[in-house]
Amino acid sequence: MQEKGNISIHTENIFPIIKKFLYSDNEIFLRELVSNAVDAVQKLKRLSSLGQYQGAIGEPLVAVAFDADAKTITISDNGIGMTGEEIKKYINQIAFSGAEEFVEKFKDAKDANELIGKFGLGFYSAFMVSDKVEIQSLSYQEGAQPARWICDGSTEFEISEGDRTERGTSIILHVNGDSEEFLDQHKLQGILDKYCRFLPVPIKFGTKKEYDYPETTAEGEEEQKDSKPVEREVDNIINDTTPIWTKSPSDLKDEDYLKFYRDLYPMSEEPLFWIHLNVDYPFTLTGVLYFPKVKNDIDFQRNKIKLFSRQVFITDEVKDIVPEYLMLLHGVIDSPDIPLNVSRSFLQADGNVKKINSHISKKVADKLAELFKNDRATYETKWSDIGLFVKYGMISDEKFYDRAKDFALLTNTKEEHYTLTEYKEKTEALQKDKDGTLVYIYTTDPARQDSFIQSANKKGYDVLLMNSPIDNHFVHTLERKLEKTSMKRVDADVTDKLIAKDEKTESILTEDQSNTVKTVFESAINKPNMTVKVEALSPDELPVTVTMDEFMRRMKDMSAMSGGPNFYGSLPDSYNVSINSNHKLISRILNTSGDEQSRLAKQAFDLAMLSQGMLTGADLTEFVNRSVSLI
Ligand code: ADP
Repeated sequence: MQEKGNISIHTENIFPIIKKFLYSDNEIFLRELVSNAVDAVQKLKRLSSLGQYQGAIGEPLVAVAFDADAKTITISDNGIGMTGEEIKKYINQIAFSGAEEFVEKFKDAKDANELIGKFGLGFYSAFMVSDKVEIQSLSYQEGAQPARWICDGSTEFEISEGDRTERGTSIILHVNGDSEEFLDQHKLQGILDKYCRFLPVPIKFGTKKEYDYPETTAEGEEEQKDSKPVEREVDNIINDTTPIWTKSPSDLKDEDYLKFYRDLYPMSEEPLFWIHLNVDYPFTLTGVLYFPKVKNDIDFQRNKIKLFSRQVFITDEVKDIVPEYLMLLHGVIDSPDIPLNVSRSFLQADGNVKKINSHISKKVADKLAELFKNDRATYETKWSDIGLFVKYGMISDEKFYDRAKDFALLTNTKEEHYTLTEYKEKTEALQKDKDGTLVYIYTTDPARQDSFIQSANKKGYDVLLMNSPIDNHFVHTLERKLEKTSMKRVDADVTDKLIAKDEKTESILTEDQSNTVKTVFESAINKPNMTVKVEALSPDELPVTVTMDEFMRRMKDMSAMSGGPNFYGSLPDSYNVSINSNHKLISRILNTSGDEQSRLAKQAFDLAMLSQGMLTGADLTEFVNRSVSLI
């Protein structure tokens, strides 16, 4: 039997188009062909279990081999096979509605995945790297004859009797000149590792034509026919056919999860904990997500979650499938229900994807709630890592905020942890202002803001630690979400004024005296961005305190975060210098005069600056010199 025919698409020659547009992603030809081979093996298993195939299945196997001399890559399987008729049906009639549509669509296609999936071009991806593709196949059906199909990338093909003696299919790629890089052990190994590492059928990989399935050379190459015995190398099964996400959690130990993690991320520290996802309805999704140790430096290690579809690796860009704040997680997700071959914007609108997204979010929240409930002590020790995800989630997802508000922790400068409710109860008595607003005081830098923290603590105020980059945003979220609660950085004002109370402290200075003090300090400091205020504070508050208004500081922080100079970013830092009229030192300064008075004022101001690490350069040198002479 020999037959020639035309592949039923209308466009003259589709392959140059495929090649051109898919070139950047051309390594996926291997994923497509190996996936087809795996499918063929699994179809046979299914037929057998349904009783529709009585013969022996043997050891299911897919073999990938290459021959650098003959410039071939062969993908063989012992699956279901195809008859000549089936090859014509499945391979020749490219499964897309029309070449016109293809030509129409390829213009907008972003990547090969998109095209290949949309048009059922899996098999044809072979032409991205081949001059000529050959199929040798023997169907499982009784009495089937082996068939051979060959096509050189034009729309013409040739079908004839084949050589295969054992059930299954071999796809032989005659690699083109531009793609010889693929005739390389490391290159192919790398691609197989990436896409095929967890396929459900054993994949072996080696050089030379070492497998049982005979290969033929094209006509006219008779002289190349192998006369010497085929050398066989040690077979190398490259995949794990039952990765942990396909197993039941009850069959797995911690060690299994940890081992899998180490396999996936050899350089990473041990994860904190993990979540095994297993959903059947209303969509199918399995996977294991790990919470990595991230410390406080947010080295946003995105793209650490791998997306699979029936154990075939698809991508590690899960941006639209996993909620933004969970992109920091590691692990795998496997779902045949994620439309893999559509554009990003479509993905975002896809109903399944939305459900998957919120399912993952809920699962993560459930797991955290469980950890918190069952072992709060351990949970607290992990909080510095977990907190990053939780805060990020609370900031970016209202639903997650609602779930997390019971297990989110606030940490104070004494490293004590409180839930939001507990913290409210702790601070309510002392930290309400005259309008009944609860004021949470926080520090972004406990070392630098130490004098303020001590002063606040002395007053019985608690100070929260908000010293990770994400806390900046978290402060805003808390303030927005918590009822009648405002957040103030500990150095936003003198401690006495941090929480505006009704009680008024009387000044021991007269108004005239206060004005004098003001003038003395203004000329001693002599800086336009320092606003001097003389205030009646309790005598044990510091004589001079330098603060930045909460609102002003936040605006500056925000503009710094957004990177660009804006109105607030372009303002010079402006500070309040608060002079405590009730402090003994201020009375003493008032009672001196001339140089001495100015010197003392400067000294008091510099001490305030020094305590916040703000005294630098010439000001610091002058301070040191002045201190020496004062001693
Ligand atoms: P898809 O896999 O999306 O259906 P392909 O172009 O990759 O599209 O394959 C077309 C069809 O050819 C498959 O559906 C299958 O019936 C058949 N086929 C491809 N490769 C094999 C194989 N190795 N063994 C048996 N049948 C195959």
